[in-house]
Amino acid sequence: MDYKPNNQNQEPQNGSGGNGPKNKQTLLLILICLLVGLMFMGLLNNALGGVSSENISYNEFMDLVKAGKVEEVVLQSGNLTVTPKEQNEPGVIRTYQLTLMGDEQELVDLLSENGVKFHKEPPDSTGSILYAILTVLLPIVLLVGAMVWLMRSMNKGGGVMGVGKSKAKTYVQKETGVTFRDVAGQDEAKESLQEVVDFLHNPGKYTTIGAKLPKGALLVGPPGTGKTLLAKAVAGEAHVPFFSLSASEFVEMFVGVGASRVRDLFEEAKKNAPCIIFIDEIDAIGKTRDSNFSGNDEREQTLNQLLAEMDGFDTSKGVLILAATNRPEILDPALLRPGRFDRRIIVERPDLKGRVEILKVHAKNVSLDETVDLDGIALATSGAVGSDLANMINEAAILAVKNGRKAVSQKDLLEAVEVVLVGKEKKDRILSQEERRIVSYHEVGHALVTALQKDSEPVQKITIVPRTMGALGYVMQVPEEEKFLNTKTELDAMIVECLAGRAAEELVFGNVTTGASNDIEKATKIVRAMITQYGMSEKFGLMGLATQENKYLDGRMVLNCGDATATEIDHEVMRVLKEAYETAKELLAKNRDAMDRIAAYLIQKETITGKEFMEIYHQVLQERTAGTAGEPAEVLA
Ligand code: ADP
Repeated sequence: MDYKPNNQNQEPQNGSGGNGPKNKQTLLLILICLLVGLMFMGLLNNALGGVSSENISYNEFMDLVKAGKVEEVVLQSGNLTVTPKEQNEPGVIRTYQLTLMGDEQELVDLLSENGVKFHKEPPDSTGSILYAILTVLLPIVLLVGAMVWLMRSMNKGGGVMGVGKSKAKTYVQKETGVTFRDVAGQDEAKESLQEVVDFLHNPGKYTTIGAKLPKGALLVGPPGTGKTLLAKAVAGEAHVPFFSLSASEFVEMFVGVGASRVRDLFEEAKKNAPCIIFIDEIDAIGKTRDSNFSGNDEREQTLNQLLAEMDGFDTSKGVLILAATNRPEILDPALLRPGRFDRRIIVERPDLKGRVEILKVHAKNVSLDETVDLDGIALATSGAVGSDLANMINEAAILAVKNGRKAVSQKDLLEAVEVVLVGKEKKDRILSQEERRIVSYHEVGHALVTALQKDSEPVQKITIVPRTMGALGYVMQVPEEEKFLNTKTELDAMIVECLAGRAAEELVFGNVTTGASNDIEKATKIVRAMITQYGMSEKFGLMGLATQENKYLDGRMVLNCGDATATEIDHEVMRVLKEAYETAKELLAKNRDAMDRIAAYLIQKETITGKEFMEIYHQVLQERTAGTAGEPAEVLA
């Protein structure tokens, strides 16, 4: 286990402004406390005067006088201050204090007999007032002053007293500098937003006819598809300021704070109209309110305030609200009714053409060499979103620099695709010979079954170099063209492919490993979807047995059938998987010679291309027809 010193993960206490102001405040506070303490103890008073005073008894005083040790006595308001002749400490006058006892005249006589100087002073009213001020009033004034100062400085820094303030100002951009040209693909979304841009540009054109523009538009789609980018592009095209805020920032632990932030944000935006307010992840506050579970007061208040603000402003001023979410189904219906977020703009995962365009946009400022074929990369990245593709181009550029090249090649791009999809090569993970053999047969099992079934996609590459995301080896497949539909035969082939790795292990080693968990999960998911969603099961026919939740996130399925049916579904899934596994084993057993040959080659090379794979396979086929096959190739032991 890693050892971490306790303080290693601590965040700085004052994230925004560093430690300077906080330290100063603490220092000042300590100083004030010290000062107040000193005053209360009366020490300051004495120290200022350079006088050290001590109480003595009347008898001791008499003895001192009689011994001729007293220099002077001062009487004031019944108190005697005695200054002795002997002064030991330089710079400090030592005196004694006592109260007058007996007759004053007697004392005066005694003192004059012993040659002691004597004064009588009128009662000191100024001294006592000053003393009172110093000990009582001043500390109070200082304390109040310190508190006022502290509150003010907290307010400035957005501390406790500043919670209700919107943070929108921090995110406001006068010009985003992003235009529709920076958003590749997403043509339908851009088209819907074009009229909004036009309106912000020239509101008069619409208002003279009496047309009202939507107050808000909701951008819906999976993460990374460019929703924020589109919102920025609208602001950039219209040349208006862009206020951006994540919905989760409205809600803090204090009830009422979110509502006041919403108010603040709209006020600020109205002052800057025409402008765009962009609320990211609106589901954080816009969740439907009718849930029976314990309500979240703060969130509801914030949502109510948002609804009220949206109703309250006049679109002719040119304030447009854009919001983004990837969970539209959980939003409160009140948010979606006409007059609020009445437009819904779907920002889907890009298709092949869209991916090529996105790659082009991001490759614009990257030097590419002549080998680069962005269409090929787009084909290999089915399902990737804009942010993945941007990331891939950047990874490829970094790889090229790392290898000391001046331009990015196709090889860099393909490697970057793998880095984003399965992680970096993990060269320090050394597999034992036996494990290499197992992984190798497992991967060749997948690839061979893929090649043997004509309804599956061709293999691009097989590797047994472990990757950082956990894979010990994998087969990369690239479709010949993008598909939007899958036939039942294709899905059946996919299931057999998924299970072929495990089948190879069992066939060759007579034992199985933990390496197939991911394949099993994938195969089960496909079978389940075929039965419950696609109506591809003979047993259940066309009955819809599940509904999808979170379409844009994990696409989780929820069964909507009785318990008995759910059990039957499980049995059916089991049966289909078992059959597919048998098919995989059968296919591999029939082609054991090819599997052995390719696996041996893979163990040596670690990574082979689809072309090399096919060459060996065809060679084995030729040998088979020529009758020379039959002896399995030697496999590294
Ligand atoms: P979302 O808000 O949908 O989660 P973002 O708008 O934040 O996604 O996108 C993240 C990044 O991905 C962008 O900054 C951009 O670099 C890239 N990107 C996403 N979609 C596109 C696209 N259609 N065209 C160009 N770049 C894109």
